[in-house]
Amino acid sequence: AAAPLGHSVIPIVNKLQDIFAQLGSQSTIELPQVAVVGSQSSGKSSVLEALVGRDFLPRGSEICTRRPLVLQLLQTKRKPDGTEEEYGEFLHLTGKRFYDFSDIRREIQAETEREAGGNKGVSDKQIRLKIFSPNVLDITLVDLPGITKVPVGDQPTDIEARIRTMIMSYIRTPSCLILAVTPANSDLANSDALQIAGNADPDGHRTIGIITKLDIMDRGTDARNLLLGKVIPLRLGYVGVVNRSQEDIMLNRSIKDALVAEEKFFRSRPVYNGLADRCGVPQLAKKLNQILVQHIKAVLPALKSRISSTLVSVAKEHASYGEITESKAGQGALLLNILSKYSEAFSSMVEGKNEEMSTA
Ligand code: GDP
Ligand code: MG
Repeated sequence: AAAPLGHSVIPIVNKLQDIFAQLGSQSTIELPQVAVVGSQSSGKSSVLEALVGRDFLPRGSEICTRRPLVLQLLQTKRKPDGTEEEYGEFLHLTGKRFYDFSDIRREIQAETEREAGGNKGVSDKQIRLKIFSPNVLDITLVDLPGITKVPVGDQPTDIEARIRTMIMSYIRTPSCLILAVTPANSDLANSDALQIAGNADPDGHRTIGIITKLDIMDRGTDARNLLLGKVIPLRLGYVGVVNRSQEDIMLNRSIKDALVAEEKFFRSRPVYNGLADRCGVPQLAKKLNQILVQHIKAVLPALKSRISSTLVSVAKEHASYGEITESKAGQGALLLNILSKYSEAFSSMVEGKNEEMSTA
């Protein structure tokens, strides 16, 4: 299965984890969480699914995501015969492996109802799901209920405030990347997503704007100026996407087909010419990858110094025994050297010089 997210980051993270493992170091690369925010039915769950490359989230025209879903992607080794195994496991059903991703969706729905009832109720109690796959990188994605204004079903009168508090509790964390989702057929100036992301991240250094539903804009309008940041500027910019419509979902259209359709959509509309770097799910994945690489680059010096100090204490210990050995310290120095080379490689990659490591 295609998993657009992480193609360029997976090999780097793997290499680094190997280096740390060889050193016996506790240090690992911790990637930031990614959370989606926006109004109800803006397309948040659809965007997350497209990034993961698998169908497994409840989506629809009514309220579907009614509890926070903390989705932990965990990379597994490919089996020796080359086949790959992908499965999910819920915290509330530990030990039970879900190989069929539609069963995962059904379980999310059932578990949502167990806690939040059958009548549109919302709960801040998390559902925790791990996805094990050779095609993902170790990252946590959070799908959140959308902002709604008018209580329906069993929702309390202060539903909007409750959902906002819930969302803020996730996106307040400085390491959380925010995907702020706004549909193209609504006014950006009214965007709940940009508003709440702006509260949590006023400098905008961890907010990516996502414009969904480019395919169903009013006739005669387009999203060119939105994507160019001319309507509301955003430091990390915008990406426009076309996800599956409700009809596509009812017809069981696959993510793969949807990606092909999306590409065709952008190719056939001259107004999006020259904006290729801001159009489509693969571009969003690329942007996320670049941010993750930058994050890795930023945390490397701290990891390096942690390793250095471990090495110093190991060397001291050896000295106190009066031993000269083919020591861990010697190996460590070598690995540290490799690590330094990596940091340089990252720099050039971030600046786009190293084609080999890009997602293209
Ligand atoms: P959420 O409530 O923000 O998680 O939104 P969902 O992902 O559940 O999507 C809400 C509805 O909008 C679903 O019926 C989707 O099929 C539809 N939808 C999402 N993105 C797009 C898009 O880009 N184009 C079209 N036509 N429909 C979309
Ligand atoms: Mg949703």
